[in-house]
Amino acid sequence: MSGDNLFRPMTEHAVTMEKIVSLCRRRGFVFPSSEIYGGLGSSYDYGHYGVLLKNNLRARWLEAMVQEREDVVVLDTAIILNPRVWEASGHVAGFTDPLVDCRHCKLRFRADKLDEEHCGARPSKRPGETELCDLTEARQFNLMFETTVGPVQETGSKVYLRPETAQGIFVNFKNVAQLARRKPPFGIANVGGKSFRNEITPGNFLFRVLEFEQMEMEYFVPPADADRWYRTWIDERVAWYRRYGLRDSHLRVREHDAEELSHYSSATSDLEYHYPIGWSELEGIANRGDYDLRQHSEHSGTKLEWVDAGTGERFVPHVIEPAVSLERMFLAFLIDAYDEEVVAERERTVLRLHPALAPVKAAVLPLIGKNEDLVAKARALFEQLRKEFLVEYDDSGAIGRRYRRQDEIGTPFAFTADEQTLVDSTVTVRDRDSLAQERLPLEGVADWLGDALRREWRSPKA
Ligand code: ATP
Repeated sequence: MSGDNLFRPMTEHAVTMEKIVSLCRRRGFVFPSSEIYGGLGSSYDYGHYGVLLKNNLRARWLEAMVQEREDVVVLDTAIILNPRVWEASGHVAGFTDPLVDCRHCKLRFRADKLDEEHCGARPSKRPGETELCDLTEARQFNLMFETTVGPVQETGSKVYLRPETAQGIFVNFKNVAQLARRKPPFGIANVGGKSFRNEITPGNFLFRVLEFEQMEMEYFVPPADADRWYRTWIDERVAWYRRYGLRDSHLRVREHDAEELSHYSSATSDLEYHYPIGWSELEGIANRGDYDLRQHSEHSGTKLEWVDAGTGERFVPHVIEPAVSLERMFLAFLIDAYDEEVVAERERTVLRLHPALAPVKAAVLPLIGKNEDLVAKARALFEQLRKEFLVEYDDSGAIGRRYRRQDEIGTPFAFTADEQTLVDSTVTVRDRDSLAQERLPLEGVADWLGDALRREWRSPKA
């Protein structure tokens, strides 16, 4: 049904952060947190479709890390750890950003990111660019949130909300290595949820938030193999993003040069995505060497090394770490999927998400919502499909509006019961991307949908 002349794609520049924020709000993916009190900068709540999309991203990541491999196990560690962990890891002394204050506009900026910030008095300028700007010297500011364990703040002990999940893995190395009977190379993925950073740079929506769900995997290898595995994990992670449809034109690998490397790292590459704010880090892949295991061995007095029970061979493994937050992934996939086009003189906004990521897999719709026979057929199909798939039923309003609503949340397929359904028990299936429609027998819909969700998918966006 889709003649080429009906389509007029809009340009790449149509995707702005404002449009993504507005779609997220309109369709209930993401809300500013505690909004009725005026919100809180860099903090967000996730609505129904946002939660479903996050669940799908996490599930696909876990599949690739654990289900499809034999050498990675999962772990879920606490958010509040013994504070000595953060002394040993170097975070108490060194997890800092250099900050400058402007005495004129009273705003605070990251000294190393001034070229991305906006002057408080004249937002079209960078801090320091106007004659009114009066910046202080840079001071180091620790990004860890502090709190107190114990009933009285003065006598309780100071603890930190973890700024990364990796340390929970390192301090459990001995437990896991012994119990999982693993020999390097093997990995431990921490799936325990949130990390916290007292970021002062305004957020760019979900890109930089105060709390984020980190997905980190520490891969322990014999020291001589570290570089090979570092390269392998870069390739693995790029392949994962491509598999779920992120466009090659918007994904690149950037290797850090020597001055940029963290204190623990001997090599790091950022997988960068071309966000509307420019090329920025989506995921980091670091060769952390043996820094963390050695630090924790020294500070805790517990030897963290691998010992071969048979041969007695022992060594401190080196560690390769792919680390990303669900929030940066969420944002990258939404931006990559967002599209606007004019179809038969009407504009539509569509999220071209990979079907395996889409929050809702299919919509089931009676063509006319007030026709009881069509409603009965559509409801029966919906009841059957919902046993296996996350599907939505909708019979309210004009069919065109219902399709548009599903397009905006990225639902890849819509099954519609119409007059012909009553005659021959077939429904139409509408493809979100091509808008092509075909008829399917009702009894074959569940199998068809299962197959369609497993099919390889490439973004039709240029
Ligand atoms: P940046 O330089 O952007 O602050 P980083 O290099 O400090 O990031 P890492 O410490 O390497 O980040 O953290 C690993 C991953 O965690 C990042 O690649 C990113 O996906 C995510 N991440 C880090 N900080 C935040 C944040 N404040 N909000 C959302 N995600 C974050």
